[in-house]
Amino acid sequence: MKSHNVLVIGAGIGGLATALALHARGHAVTVVEAAPEARALGVGINLLPHAVAVLDRFGIVPALIRSGVETEALLFANRFGQTIHRDARGLGAGAAFPQISIHRGQLQQILFDSARLALGGEAIRFGCRCIGLGSTTGSGATARFMVDGRQVEFSADAIVACDGIHSAVRQQFYPDEGPPRWNGVMMWRGTTLGKPFLGGRTMVQAGIGDAKFVVYPISTAPDPDGNVLINWIADIRTKPRIDGTYQAPARQDWMKPGSLDDLLPTFGSWSFDWLDVPEIIRNAQGILEWPMVDRDPLPRWSFGRIALAGDAAHPMYPIGSNGATQAILDADALSQALSDDEPVTAFESYERARRPMTSEIVRMNRMMGLDAVLDLVDELAPTGFARIEDVIDPAEIASRIDNYKLLAGHARKVSA
Ligand SMILES: Cc1cc2nc3c(=O)[nH]c(=O)nc-3n(C[C@H](O)[C@H](O)[C@H](O)COP(=O)(O)OP(=O)(O)OC[C@H]3O[C@@H](n4cnc5c(N)ncnc54)[C@H](O)[C@@H]3O)c2cc1C
Repeated sequence: MKSHNVLVIGAGIGGLATALALHARGHAVTVVEAAPEARALGVGINLLPHAVAVLDRFGIVPALIRSGVETEALLFANRFGQTIHRDARGLGAGAAFPQISIHRGQLQQILFDSARLALGGEAIRFGCRCIGLGSTTGSGATARFMVDGRQVEFSADAIVACDGIHSAVRQQFYPDEGPPRWNGVMMWRGTTLGKPFLGGRTMVQAGIGDAKFVVYPISTAPDPDGNVLINWIADIRTKPRIDGTYQAPARQDWMKPGSLDDLLPTFGSWSFDWLDVPEIIRNAQGILEWPMVDRDPLPRWSFGRIALAGDAAHPMYPIGSNGATQAILDADALSQALSDDEPVTAFESYERARRPMTSEIVRMNRMMGLDAVLDLVDELAPTGFARIEDVIDPAEIASRIDNYKLLAGHARKVSA
């Protein structure tokens, strides 16, 4: 069993999971983060069972379940709220762990608290913005940071870059890559206090790829008015479909505010028997705007003693609940590889284990992944239906969904 001194750049979901996974396998870890302090940012996010299995080793699953929701089903519906397909999720689907829907800020906070306890407070440093890499020698690697207006260097046996979609480290290896690529769909995201729907543990995606409403609860304990916290994402195509991708409108900021006026013309009439979509949107605690962007799959992620992970390696459209999950699976794979080998060899085997699948997910999501089912049913029954069996064989829908899940590794076991 090898033990290395590892520098993790970025204290987001992937960086903190990487720190915990490395620590659990006996490595010495320092995490450096650009943000000035730990802040619980974002809205809802999903953890698929194979990522929850990894987090279970850090003893945090009970806390995640207390904060979030054990999601039992993903319901596909048309724009009239009629059920296309109900896909069982988590324990009900035979997985060993639940799927957890949770506020990203709470997930980050739970990971942070656990990492601080395991590593010690000094090992997680805020206010350190990576601006590039330094020298790599036979025994170590160096990265450069801006800290309190000064340039400083940190060295380690190995460096893992978990610095997100705008990764400074990725940019150093791919200087001509340019900004993320946009498919012309804008996404508005928010949280709303509202009455539980469909039993309180169901995630829904309704509509079509070009006008889609995704909604799921991220809390189960009702407040005194009987309301739970509901997360939603409203997608609207604002540019025509083309072959290839657009350049995104501006530098993408996860916390950019959005406007109600952009949503109601599309979703204002979507009042279903079981959910009033315009009411959910109107009652939002806040609305955030984010273009549906990703980056092309890379030919290489490991560069000697330096490796990319999470969104720095494979940013993907948020279709299929894979963003956080794949970052956590990276953490598991690279920590195992570093326990087995010296950093250069370890990062090569980590890349071999993880790059093909994540590249495939990026490509599947570009073809709208699971959303393709919504488009297919809308083409066949644009004005709705009484029985889905009259529109399409339910077995065909189930097989399309299962195929995506298989390629995205849902059934894959994590290493011990
Ligand atoms: C503020 C924020 C809010 C988000 N909200 C949502 C959401 O609501 N729903 C959702 O599905 N996904 C959200 N995401 C994205 C989601 O967390 C990721 O897609 C996924 O979890 C993969 O995690 P990651 O650690 O690779 O990237 P991220 O979670 O994006 O983490 C990257 C981390 O690196 C830090 N960083 C960036 N540049 C540098 C640098 N140069 N030097 C040092 N540190 C750096 C960032 O501050 C951040 O903490 C959000 C990301 C961020 C940063």
